[in-house]
Amino acid sequence: MGTLVNEGVPLDTGKKTLIRRSAQDRSQRIRRIVQWLFVALNGWLGVQFFLWVRYYEHSGNALYVPRPAGVEGWLPIAGLMNSKYFLSTGQVPQIHPAAMFLFAAFMLMSLLFKKAFCAWLCPVGTISEYLWKLGRKIFGRNLHLPRWADLPLRGLKYLLLGFFLFAIGAMSAEALDGFMETPYGLVADVKMLNFFRHMGQTALVTIGLLVLLSMLIQNFWCRYLCPYGALMGITSLFSPVKIRRDADACIDCGKCARACPANLPVDKLVQVRSAECSACMICVAACPAQDALQFSLPPRRAAVPAQRWYRRTVGPLALTAILAYIFFGLVLYARATNHWQTIMPQSVYMHLVPRADQLTHPGME
Ligand code: SF4
Ligand code: SF4
Repeated sequence: MGTLVNEGVPLDTGKKTLIRRSAQDRSQRIRRIVQWLFVALNGWLGVQFFLWVRYYEHSGNALYVPRPAGVEGWLPIAGLMNSKYFLSTGQVPQIHPAAMFLFAAFMLMSLLFKKAFCAWLCPVGTISEYLWKLGRKIFGRNLHLPRWADLPLRGLKYLLLGFFLFAIGAMSAEALDGFMETPYGLVADVKMLNFFRHMGQTALVTIGLLVLLSMLIQNFWCRYLCPYGALMGITSLFSPVKIRRDADACIDCGKCARACPANLPVDKLVQVRSAECSACMICVAACPAQDALQFSLPPRRAAVPAQRWYRRTVGPLALTAILAYIFFGLVLYARATNHWQTIMPQSVYMHLVPRADQLTHPGME
Protein backbone atom coordinates (compact mmCIF):
# COMPACT_ATOMS: atom_id res chain seq x y z
CA MET A 1 0.00 0.00 0.00
CA GLY A 2 1.41 3.43 -0.94
CA THR A 3 1.94 6.03 1.75
CA LEU A 4 2.57 9.77 1.56
CA VAL A 5 4.45 11.77 4.18
CA ASN A 6 2.38 14.64 5.56
CA GLU A 7 -0.65 13.90 3.45
CA GLY A 8 -2.61 11.70 5.82
CA VAL A 9 -2.72 8.34 7.50
CA PRO A 10 -3.23 5.29 5.30
CA LEU A 11 -5.70 2.70 6.46
CA ASP A 12 -6.13 -0.98 5.75
CA THR A 13 -8.97 -1.60 3.33
CA GLY A 14 -11.22 -4.56 2.66
CA LYS A 15 -14.39 -5.54 0.72
CA LYS A 16 -17.48 -3.77 2.01
CA THR A 17 -21.09 -3.32 1.06
CA LEU A 18 -21.96 -0.15 -0.82
CA ILE A 19 -24.65 1.99 0.77
CA ARG A 20 -25.48 4.30 -2.10
CA ARG A 21 -25.67 7.99 -1.52
CA SER A 22 -29.29 9.10 -1.34
CA ALA A 23 -28.90 12.76 -2.36
CA GLN A 24 -27.45 13.91 -5.66
CA ASP A 25 -24.16 15.81 -5.33
CA ARG A 26 -24.49 19.37 -6.58
CA SER A 27 -21.06 20.63 -5.53
CA GLN A 28 -19.64 20.78 -9.06
CA ARG A 29 -22.65 22.56 -10.52
CA ILE A 30 -22.49 25.16 -7.74
CA ARG A 31 -18.72 25.50 -8.07
CA ARG A 32 -18.99 26.08 -11.83
CA ILE A 33 -21.55 28.84 -11.27
CA VAL A 34 -19.32 30.50 -8.66
CA GLN A 35 -16.26 30.18 -10.90
CA TRP A 36 -17.96 31.81 -13.90
CA LEU A 37 -19.54 34.54 -11.78
CA PHE A 38 -16.06 35.43 -10.58
CA VAL A 39 -14.71 35.33 -14.13
CA ALA A 40 -17.57 37.67 -15.13
CA LEU A 41 -16.76 39.99 -12.21
CA ASN A 42 -13.12 40.10 -13.31
CA GLY A 43 -14.15 40.70 -16.91
CA TRP A 44 -16.35 43.59 -15.79
CA LEU A 45 -13.47 45.08 -13.76
CA GLY A 46 -11.15 44.57 -16.73
CA VAL A 47 -13.43 46.49 -19.11
CA GLN A 48 -13.82 49.36 -16.65
CA PHE A 49 -10.09 49.49 -16.04
CA PHE A 50 -9.36 49.46 -19.78
CA LEU A 51 -11.72 52.42 -20.28
CA TRP A 52 -10.09 54.24 -17.38
CA VAL A 53 -6.63 53.75 -18.88
CA ARG A 54 -7.90 54.76 -22.33
CA TYR A 55 -9.23 58.04 -20.92
CA TYR A 56 -5.71 59.05 -19.85
CA GLU A 57 -4.07 57.68 -22.98
CA HIS A 58 -6.36 59.96 -25.00
CA SER A 59 -5.51 62.96 -22.82
CA GLY A 60 -9.02 63.06 -21.38
CA ASN A 61 -10.78 62.92 -24.77
CA ALA A 62 -12.57 59.64 -24.18
CA LEU A 63 -15.28 58.25 -21.96
CA TYR A 64 -14.36 58.64 -18.29
CA VAL A 65 -14.96 55.66 -16.04
CA PRO A 66 -13.80 55.69 -12.39
CA ARG A 67 -10.86 53.43 -11.65
CA PRO A 68 -12.11 50.05 -10.35
CA ALA A 69 -9.89 49.36 -7.33
CA GLY A 70 -10.85 45.66 -7.54
CA VAL A 71 -8.24 45.20 -10.31
CA GLU A 72 -5.70 45.26 -7.50
CA GLY A 73 -6.66 41.68 -6.81
CA TRP A 74 -4.32 41.03 -9.75
CA LEU A 75 -1.44 42.65 -7.84
CA PRO A 76 -0.62 39.98 -5.26
CA ILE A 77 2.93 41.30 -4.76
CA ALA A 78 1.50 44.74 -3.93
CA GLY A 79 -0.92 42.94 -1.60
CA LEU A 80 1.97 41.23 0.16
CA MET A 81 4.03 44.44 0.37
CA ASN A 82 1.10 46.43 1.72
CA SER A 83 0.27 43.71 4.24
CA LYS A 84 3.81 43.88 5.57
CA TYR A 85 3.57 47.68 5.68
CA PHE A 86 0.30 47.43 7.62
CA LEU A 87 1.69 44.85 10.06
CA SER A 88 4.84 46.97 10.64
CA THR A 89 3.16 50.35 11.05
CA GLY A 90 -0.48 49.66 11.90
CA GLN A 91 -1.43 52.06 9.09
CA VAL A 92 -3.40 51.23 5.98
CA PRO A 93 -1.22 52.07 2.96
CA GLN A 94 -2.32 54.92 0.68
CA ILE A 95 -1.31 53.32 -2.63
CA HIS A 96 -3.15 50.18 -3.76
CA PRO A 97 -4.87 49.55 -0.40
CA ALA A 98 -7.45 47.31 -2.13
CA ALA A 99 -4.61 44.90 -3.01
CA MET A 100 -4.05 44.39 0.71
CA PHE A 101 -7.71 43.85 1.57
CA LEU A 102 -8.16 41.36 -1.25
CA PHE A 103 -4.94 39.60 -0.30
CA ALA A 104 -6.20 39.36 3.31
CA ALA A 105 -9.57 38.01 2.13
CA PHE A 106 -7.94 35.29 0.02
CA MET A 107 -5.56 34.32 2.85
CA LEU A 108 -8.45 34.10 5.31
CA MET A 109 -10.31 31.83 2.88
CA SER A 110 -7.24 29.55 2.70
CA LEU A 111 -6.90 29.51 6.45
CA LEU A 112 -10.48 28.35 6.84
CA PHE A 113 -11.18 26.28 3.71
CA LYS A 114 -7.94 24.98 2.22
CA LYS A 115 -7.10 26.52 -1.16
CA ALA A 116 -10.77 27.12 -1.95
CA PHE A 117 -9.78 30.40 -3.61
CA CYS A 118 -7.94 28.43 -6.33
CA ALA A 119 -10.78 26.05 -7.19
CA TRP A 120 -13.76 28.32 -6.58
CA LEU A 121 -12.70 31.87 -7.38
CA CYS A 122 -9.37 32.34 -9.15
CA PRO A 123 -9.97 33.02 -12.88
CA VAL A 124 -6.56 31.53 -13.71
CA GLY A 125 -7.56 28.37 -11.81
CA THR A 126 -10.85 28.28 -13.73
CA ILE A 127 -9.12 28.65 -17.10
CA SER A 128 -6.54 26.00 -16.09
CA GLU A 129 -9.32 23.59 -15.17
CA TYR A 130 -11.12 24.06 -18.48
CA LEU A 131 -7.84 23.71 -20.36
CA TRP A 132 -7.07 20.27 -18.88
CA LYS A 133 -10.65 19.21 -19.50
CA LEU A 134 -10.29 20.33 -23.11
CA GLY A 135 -6.93 18.54 -23.32
CA ARG A 136 -8.53 15.36 -22.01
CA LYS A 137 -11.22 15.61 -24.68
CA ILE A 138 -8.70 16.18 -27.47
CA PHE A 139 -5.95 13.75 -26.39
CA GLY A 140 -8.14 11.23 -24.59
CA ARG A 141 -6.31 11.65 -21.26
CA ASN A 142 -4.13 13.94 -19.17
CA LEU A 143 -0.53 13.17 -18.33
CA HIS A 144 0.66 12.46 -14.80
CA LEU A 145 4.33 13.19 -14.35
CA PRO A 146 6.35 10.53 -12.53
CA ARG A 147 7.02 11.29 -8.88
CA TRP A 148 10.74 12.02 -9.48
CA ALA A 149 9.75 14.86 -11.85
CA ASP A 150 6.55 15.95 -10.11
CA LEU A 151 8.05 16.58 -6.67
CA PRO A 152 10.92 18.89 -7.70
CA LEU A 153 8.64 20.73 -10.13
CA ARG A 154 6.13 21.30 -7.33
CA GLY A 155 9.01 22.89 -5.42
CA LEU A 156 9.37 25.61 -8.08
CA LYS A 157 6.39 27.58 -6.83
CA TYR A 158 7.82 27.54 -3.30
CA LEU A 159 11.16 28.80 -4.63
CA LEU A 160 9.39 31.68 -6.38
CA LEU A 161 7.42 32.39 -3.22
CA GLY A 162 10.63 32.26 -1.15
CA PHE A 163 12.21 34.81 -3.47
CA PHE A 164 9.32 37.25 -3.06
CA LEU A 165 9.07 36.71 0.70
CA PHE A 166 12.81 37.26 1.09
CA ALA A 167 12.83 40.40 -1.07
CA ILE A 168 9.79 41.92 0.65
CA GLY A 169 10.83 40.71 4.11
CA ALA A 170 14.14 42.58 3.71
CA MET A 171 12.39 45.90 2.99
CA SER A 172 11.62 48.37 5.77
CA ALA A 173 8.20 50.03 6.03
CA GLU A 174 9.73 53.25 4.65
CA ALA A 175 11.20 51.36 1.70
CA LEU A 176 7.84 49.69 0.98
CA ASP A 177 6.06 53.03 1.11
CA GLY A 178 8.77 54.61 -1.03
CA PHE A 179 8.45 51.86 -3.63
CA MET A 180 4.68 52.21 -3.87
CA GLU A 181 5.03 55.95 -4.39
CA THR A 182 7.44 55.62 -7.30
CA PRO A 183 5.90 56.15 -10.77
CA TYR A 184 6.36 52.39 -11.35
CA GLY A 185 4.52 51.50 -8.14
CA LEU A 186 1.69 53.96 -8.84
CA VAL A 187 0.85 52.46 -12.22
CA ALA A 188 1.82 48.83 -11.58
CA ASP A 189 -1.76 47.90 -12.53
CA VAL A 190 -1.49 49.76 -15.85
CA LYS A 191 1.78 47.96 -16.59
CA MET A 192 0.04 44.66 -15.94
CA LEU A 193 -2.75 45.57 -18.38
CA ASN A 194 -0.17 46.66 -20.95
CA PHE A 195 1.64 43.36 -20.60
CA PHE A 196 -1.47 41.62 -21.92
CA ARG A 197 -2.31 44.32 -24.47
CA HIS A 198 1.15 44.70 -26.02
CA MET A 199 2.51 41.21 -25.72
CA GLY A 200 5.96 40.63 -27.21
CA GLN A 201 7.00 37.48 -29.04
CA THR A 202 8.65 35.95 -25.96
CA ALA A 203 5.58 36.49 -23.81
CA LEU A 204 3.32 35.07 -26.52
CA VAL A 205 5.47 31.94 -26.91
CA THR A 206 5.65 31.50 -23.11
CA ILE A 207 1.87 31.82 -22.71
CA GLY A 208 1.30 29.48 -25.67
CA LEU A 209 3.58 26.92 -24.03
CA LEU A 210 1.77 27.29 -20.70
CA VAL A 211 -1.58 26.77 -22.44
CA LEU A 212 -0.32 23.61 -24.14
CA LEU A 213 1.16 22.25 -20.90
CA SER A 214 -2.07 23.10 -19.08
CA MET A 215 -4.00 21.03 -21.60
CA LEU A 216 -1.67 18.08 -21.09
CA ILE A 217 -1.14 18.25 -17.32
CA GLN A 218 -3.92 19.04 -14.86
CA ASN A 219 -3.57 22.54 -13.38
CA PHE A 220 0.02 22.87 -14.63
CA TRP A 221 0.39 26.54 -13.66
CA CYS A 222 -1.23 26.13 -10.24
CA ARG A 223 0.60 22.92 -9.41
CA TYR A 224 4.10 23.96 -10.40
CA LEU A 225 4.48 27.69 -10.83
CA CYS A 226 1.99 29.88 -8.97
CA PRO A 227 3.68 31.48 -5.92
CA TYR A 228 0.32 32.86 -4.75
CA GLY A 229 -1.05 29.30 -4.69
CA ALA A 230 2.08 28.18 -2.82
CA LEU A 231 1.42 30.73 -0.08
CA MET A 232 -2.21 29.71 0.10
CA GLY A 233 -1.16 26.06 0.22
CA ILE A 234 1.08 26.71 3.24
CA THR A 235 -1.70 28.72 4.91
CA SER A 236 -4.19 25.96 4.13
CA LEU A 237 -2.23 23.47 6.23
CA PHE A 238 -3.80 25.16 9.27
CA SER A 239 -7.33 24.84 7.91
CA PRO A 240 -9.68 22.97 10.28
CA VAL A 241 -11.97 21.99 7.39
CA LYS A 242 -10.60 19.15 5.29
CA ILE A 243 -11.66 16.36 3.03
CA ARG A 244 -12.30 13.48 5.46
CA ARG A 245 -12.92 9.87 4.60
CA ASP A 246 -14.91 7.53 6.77
CA ALA A 247 -13.11 4.21 6.37
CA ASP A 248 -16.17 2.24 7.53
CA ALA A 249 -18.51 3.77 4.96
CA CYS A 250 -15.87 3.72 2.19
CA ILE A 251 -15.99 0.74 -0.18
CA ASP A 252 -12.42 1.28 -1.47
CA CYS A 253 -13.46 1.80 -5.06
CA GLY A 254 -10.74 4.42 -5.62
CA LYS A 255 -13.01 6.74 -7.62
CA CYS A 256 -12.08 9.73 -5.47
CA ALA A 257 -8.36 9.32 -6.06
CA ARG A 258 -8.84 8.84 -9.80
CA ALA A 259 -10.97 11.99 -9.98
CA CYS A 260 -8.68 14.21 -7.88
CA PRO A 261 -6.99 16.79 -10.16
CA ALA A 262 -4.22 17.22 -7.59
CA ASN A 263 -3.48 13.51 -7.91
CA LEU A 264 -3.88 12.91 -4.17
CA PRO A 265 -4.43 9.37 -2.86
CA VAL A 266 -7.76 10.31 -1.27
CA ASP A 267 -8.89 6.67 -1.10
CA LYS A 268 -5.98 5.82 1.20
CA LEU A 269 -6.28 8.73 3.61
CA VAL A 270 -8.39 9.47 6.65
CA GLN A 271 -8.07 13.18 5.99
CA VAL A 272 -6.44 15.11 3.17
CA ARG A 273 -3.88 17.43 4.74
CA SER A 274 -1.92 18.14 1.58
CA ALA A 275 -1.10 21.74 0.62
CA GLU A 276 -2.18 20.79 -2.90
CA CYS A 277 -5.84 20.20 -1.95
CA SER A 278 -7.96 23.01 -3.38
CA ALA A 279 -11.29 22.04 -1.78
CA CYS A 280 -12.69 21.52 -5.26
CA MET A 281 -14.88 18.65 -3.92
CA ILE A 282 -14.44 16.73 -7.17
CA CYS A 283 -13.54 13.70 -5.07
CA VAL A 284 -16.69 14.09 -2.99
CA ALA A 285 -18.79 14.33 -6.15
CA ALA A 286 -17.17 11.16 -7.51
CA CYS A 287 -17.74 9.10 -4.36
CA PRO A 288 -20.72 6.73 -4.62
CA ALA A 289 -20.95 5.77 -0.93
CA GLN A 290 -23.18 7.45 1.63
CA ASP A 291 -21.15 9.63 4.06
CA ALA A 292 -17.82 8.11 2.99
CA LEU A 293 -16.21 11.36 1.91
CA GLN A 294 -16.97 14.86 3.11
CA PHE A 295 -15.47 18.31 3.33
CA SER A 296 -15.84 18.75 7.03
CA LEU A 297 -14.60 19.89 10.39
CA PRO A 298 -13.14 17.19 12.62
CA PRO A 299 -15.71 15.22 14.65
CA ARG A 300 -16.08 16.68 18.12
CA ARG A 301 -15.78 13.28 19.73
CA ALA A 302 -14.21 10.01 18.71
CA ALA A 303 -15.97 8.92 15.53
CA VAL A 304 -17.68 5.81 16.81
CA PRO A 305 -20.25 4.68 14.24
CA ALA A 306 -23.26 6.15 16.07
CA GLN A 307 -21.64 9.56 16.12
CA ARG A 308 -20.37 9.69 12.56
CA TRP A 309 -23.25 11.90 11.47
CA TYR A 310 -22.10 14.38 14.09
CA ARG A 311 -19.26 15.49 11.86
CA ARG A 312 -20.05 19.03 10.72
CA THR A 313 -19.93 18.98 6.98
CA VAL A 314 -19.38 22.16 5.00
CA GLY A 315 -21.58 21.75 1.94
CA PRO A 316 -21.03 23.62 -1.32
CA LEU A 317 -23.75 26.18 -0.62
CA ALA A 318 -22.42 26.92 2.86
CA LEU A 319 -18.90 27.21 1.46
CA THR A 320 -20.10 29.60 -1.27
CA ALA A 321 -21.95 31.71 1.28
CA ILE A 322 -18.95 31.96 3.62
CA LEU A 323 -16.52 32.76 0.76
CA ALA A 324 -18.90 35.50 -0.42
CA TYR A 325 -19.24 36.78 3.14
CA ILE A 326 -15.45 37.04 3.56
CA PHE A 327 -14.96 38.62 0.13
CA PHE A 328 -17.76 41.18 0.21
CA GLY A 329 -17.34 41.74 3.95
CA LEU A 330 -13.74 42.91 3.55
CA VAL A 331 -14.49 44.91 0.40
CA LEU A 332 -17.40 46.70 2.11
CA TYR A 333 -15.33 47.31 5.22
CA ALA A 334 -12.54 48.87 3.15
CA ARG A 335 -15.04 51.03 1.27
CA ALA A 336 -16.85 52.12 4.43
CA THR A 337 -13.58 53.19 6.06
CA ASN A 338 -12.35 54.99 2.91
CA HIS A 339 -9.49 52.54 2.48
CA TRP A 340 -10.50 51.03 -0.83
CA GLN A 341 -9.42 53.55 -3.45
CA THR A 342 -5.97 54.93 -4.16
CA ILE A 343 -6.54 58.67 -3.85
CA MET A 344 -4.36 60.37 -6.45
CA PRO A 345 -4.85 63.63 -8.39
CA GLN A 346 -5.93 63.11 -12.01
CA SER A 347 -2.92 65.14 -13.17
CA VAL A 348 -0.59 62.40 -11.85
CA TYR A 349 -2.38 59.71 -13.87
CA MET A 350 -2.56 62.02 -16.90
CA HIS A 351 1.23 62.21 -16.75
CA LEU A 352 2.03 58.59 -15.87
CA VAL A 353 -0.54 56.35 -17.59
CA PRO A 354 0.48 57.15 -21.20
CA ARG A 355 4.14 56.57 -20.21
CA ALA A 356 3.59 53.37 -18.22
CA ASP A 357 5.46 51.21 -20.73
CA GLN A 358 8.60 53.30 -20.38
CA LEU A 359 8.67 53.13 -16.59
CA THR A 360 11.16 50.64 -15.20
CA HIS A 361 11.34 48.92 -11.83
CA PRO A 362 13.11 51.27 -9.36
CA GLY A 363 15.66 48.52 -8.61
CA MET A 364 16.65 48.41 -12.28
CA GLU A 365 17.21 52.13 -12.78
S1 SF4 B 1 -10.44 16.27 -5.49
FE1 SF4 B 1 -10.68 16.30 -3.27
S2 SF4 B 1 -8.63 15.89 -2.46
FE2 SF4 B 1 -8.39 16.39 -4.62
S3 SF4 B 1 -7.95 18.60 -4.61
FE3 SF4 B 1 -10.17 18.39 -4.88
S4 SF4 B 1 -11.00 18.46 -2.80
FE4 SF4 B 1 -8.81 18.10 -2.58
S1 SF4 C 1 -14.80 7.22 -3.87
FE1 SF4 C 1 -13.13 7.12 -2.37
S2 SF4 C 1 -14.09 7.53 -0.39
FE2 SF4 C 1 -15.75 7.07 -1.83
S3 SF4 C 1 -16.08 4.91 -1.56
FE3 SF4 C 1 -14.65 5.07 -3.26
S4 SF4 C 1 -12.62 4.97 -2.30
FE4 SF4 C 1 -14.11 5.32 -0.65
